[in-house]
Amino acid sequence: MAATSRFISRLTLVTGGGSGIGRAVSQRLASEGASVVVADISEDSANETLEHLQNDLRGQNHMAAAVDVSSKESVKKLVTSIQTRYFQPPSVCVNAAGITQDDFLLNMEEEQFDRVIQVNLKGSFLVTQAVAQALVACGAPKGSIITLGSIVGKVGNLGQANYAASKAGVEGLTRTAAKELSRFGIRCNCVLPGFISTPMTEKVPEKVLVKMKSLVPLGRMGEPAEVADVCAFLASDDSRYVTGASIEVTGGLFIG
Ligand code: NAD
Repeated sequence: MAATSRFISRLTLVTGGGSGIGRAVSQRLASEGASVVVADISEDSANETLEHLQNDLRGQNHMAAAVDVSSKESVKKLVTSIQTRYFQPPSVCVNAAGITQDDFLLNMEEEQFDRVIQVNLKGSFLVTQAVAQALVACGAPKGSIITLGSIVGKVGNLGQANYAASKAGVEGLTRTAAKELSRFGIRCNCVLPGFISTPMTEKVPEKVLVKMKSLVPLGRMGEPAEVADVCAFLASDDSRYVTGASIEVTGGLFIG
């Protein structure tokens, strides 16, 4: 049980909620009273997260949903189904859906580049746009949209030209959205994780992970819950004067 209850009566949407960071964010927000829509391209994974969500007596009502964030039609369908069920759009949205398709630049296929951009960058755009449109249309007093970038978007990484470009892109998207949407009370921020233990990093070769860990001043990989804590801060009114920001959660990796 979290020490605070910052999200009582708040409806939240978490994309990529079926795994890793998105699952931890869903659990964290639910533990503070939010109703959580767990959305993922894998409906089974979303349902698995749903089973782990804390439900108490504060009127929480969670749901799992299938969405492909790279498809405008699928994102629209999701937002419509949320509004049909809850009679309101989500006032907190965490864009945690993401993929990697690594290869060295000299070998990378066009399809690998396109798919990573479609999911990570275009997907964040489509979800941010659909949620913001719904919030503005209903005159909601406030909103907080959080997008998972990556420290790799700032510093680059071997084998990740597509991923680094997508993550640099979401920072530009977020800063622009922050400028355009502030007059509607909607804040937009990024969280930039370093190396976090999730199924995504299980694909990284062990010898690369050992090297990376040796570069982290705090001396270890991060846990999804440690990223979720920062997302919860940005989602909450504790960050009411923060917008257009990128917060690094890296254990100090690549300081400066
Ligand atoms: P993960 O692979 O554990 O989870 C990603 C989730 O996104 C999965 O459940 C997957 O099914 C879902 N997804 C993939 N494509 C989708 C689509 N088209 N539509 C909807 N859902 C889709 O990864 P994670 O480590 O939890 O990563 C979460 C976010 O954090 C990603 O954006 C990732 O780029 C970012 N990130 C992770 C790390 C890390 O070290 N793990 C570091 C920096 C940034």
